[in-house]
Amino acid sequence: MDTQETVISTQELTKRYGKKVALDGLSIELRRGRVYGLVGNNGSGKTTLLRILTGLSPRYEGKVEILGRGDRKGLRLSRKSMGALVDAPAYYDDLSVRDNLLMRSILLGKKDKKRVEELREQFGLTDRDVGTRAIHFCSLGQKQRFGIAATLLGEPHVLLLDEPINGLDPSGVAETRELLRKINEDSGVTMIISSHLLAELYKLATDFIFIDRGRLLEQISSEELDARIAERGMEDVEEYFIALVKASEGRV
Ligand code: ADP
Repeated sequence: MDTQETVISTQELTKRYGKKVALDGLSIELRRGRVYGLVGNNGSGKTTLLRILTGLSPRYEGKVEILGRGDRKGLRLSRKSMGALVDAPAYYDDLSVRDNLLMRSILLGKKDKKRVEELREQFGLTDRDVGTRAIHFCSLGQKQRFGIAATLLGEPHVLLLDEPINGLDPSGVAETRELLRKINEDSGVTMIISSHLLAELYKLATDFIFIDRGRLLEQISSEELDARIAERGMEDVEEYFIALVKASEGRV
């Protein structure tokens, strides 16, 4: 695995909704195999960024490159190597976890029963009552695990997860974190994970992208972040982020 390889980059990415600027000249560069924590207050542009990367929001200014391709056709192809969970996972309420995964697999172009079973196993979705009864009856944690499993059906190189641990109980949070860590370690999938839960994200991320009001405040590796936190005598990543936002607003 070439860990220096850039898998996603944006240059001067800007997104406007009418007069509202949701992303304001954002330039980032993501390397293969890393886990990026995307951090920003509400309304800072995290979902907008993820929607643009997944192709859900096709109109923007600036440049986006995924797996070396930045043209429209190339991006469409590159996105086939990307799995994404943006907003709540989508599923057919009346179908089971297994049948929902099979349905997704068919939509991706082949009915891969073997992969579906592997993922059910990996994500603890094989119990009879979880795997085969309507997903409607599953717990939030089970649905969330289903959502993440579904992003892996196409064996992606890149995973985009918007608030994947929101609403999970403490064991769900820990389980999801360990699963994501394992996926990253086993297959070197590059991940971008947005979350408000900074302490939790800190346990998983190898890098952080801090944004505010659509602008990049800082992109920094976890090692560098640790060094800065220690240097400044700060408590944790939360304190660091808050100070960064204040400094950017001239409120130090
Ligand atoms: P975050 O995910 O960090 O909470 P968002 O990307 O959802 O932030 O939103 C960034 C900004 O863009 C916010 O001010 C939000 O109100 C605005 N915004 C997002 N989507 C739309 C939309 N469809 N129409 C108008 N404004 C939007």
